[in-house]
Amino acid sequence: MASNKKIAIIGSGPAGLTAGIYTARAELDTTIYHGVQPGGQLTTTTEIENFPGFPEGIMGPELMTNMQQQAERFGVKTILESIKSIKDNGDKTFTLITVAGNEETYDAVIIASGATAKYLGLPGEEAYVGKGYHSCATCDGFFYKDKIIAVVGGGDSAAEESTFLTKFGSKVLLIHRREEMRASKIMQKRVLENDKIETMFNKQVTEMHGEPFLEEVTLEDTVTGEKSKIKVDGLFVAIGHKPNNEFADGLINMDDAGYLIPQGRIPRDKRTSPYDMMSNIDGIFLAGDIEDKVYRQAITAAGDGCRAAIECERWLEDQAD
Ligand code: NAP
Repeated sequence: MASNKKIAIIGSGPAGLTAGIYTARAELDTTIYHGVQPGGQLTTTTEIENFPGFPEGIMGPELMTNMQQQAERFGVKTILESIKSIKDNGDKTFTLITVAGNEETYDAVIIASGATAKYLGLPGEEAYVGKGYHSCATCDGFFYKDKIIAVVGGGDSAAEESTFLTKFGSKVLLIHRREEMRASKIMQKRVLENDKIETMFNKQVTEMHGEPFLEEVTLEDTVTGEKSKIKVDGLFVAIGHKPNNEFADGLINMDDAGYLIPQGRIPRDKRTSPYDMMSNIDGIFLAGDIEDKVYRQAITAAGDGCRAAIECERWLEDQAD
């Protein structure tokens, strides 16, 4: 017999849809709020070759459509709205209020709202996303075998991604707007000692050129203001991510960068619940890039969604005892 417990999942990327498949198969009445980017970040990528089960790879949008259909097959309901706020009613129910002003009350919530990669914000840059302009080296680096690759950023991500991209590119240019990187010393050392990486400090990308694929960028020297053009086949931005956390502000604990904190990421003696994926609020679980700034992969997000769903089901059972 189906449960009368209602679950809301915020976000429809791999974490949210996997959570939905699990809660729906556990016969929990499940609704997914799709948000502004239905399908999440993978809908902006091209081919995915590292998601197990697809020996020939699969296009990002197709993978997400498949996950959506799989969730629907088990009765997951879809609401094409974004959440504005969550109200903890204090009686183990939560009311979700959408941007459109609609309200609905649930017995548990799984937040899987993801993070958004920051792009440079240059005029016309949207046209190049997936056409030479990328935000995930692990996802798209493979397509640049023996090509010239540029990475923008000076943090650990830029250091890690530029080092990773040397596996593919004939040359990797690390473009950073300051004289000094903020990456950890060991990561910087790896960059500076790698013969295939050429650092371009005090430089900023100001224009992108090519039709329809990116071919060239204009650089501006941040000290002298001097402009130059360089040929690049692929430009990867590694200038940080922004967690999609606005609706959780003031309710769910977050770290300095705005990532929500699950119990599993705090010392055991400071936890308020034995459930690893539970937030500081009993009944609100977290999954995927909204709580993971380290791995950020579709498969790890899907795994987190599974964990959050199983914990959510167990927690609801505990409440009924
Ligand atoms: P981050 O540390 O915030 O670094 C962002 C970099 O991008 C900075 O160098 C910044 O320049 C630059 N930047 C920001 N906006 C820019 C813009 N509009 N144009 C050009 N450059 C811009 O971000 P992150 O590297 O993604 O790291 C985030 C967190 O994850 C950090 O805590 C990091 O340690 C961690 N992380 C760890 C690992 C690892 O340990 N393996 C790997 C990846 C990430 P400025 O320096 O001038 O501000």
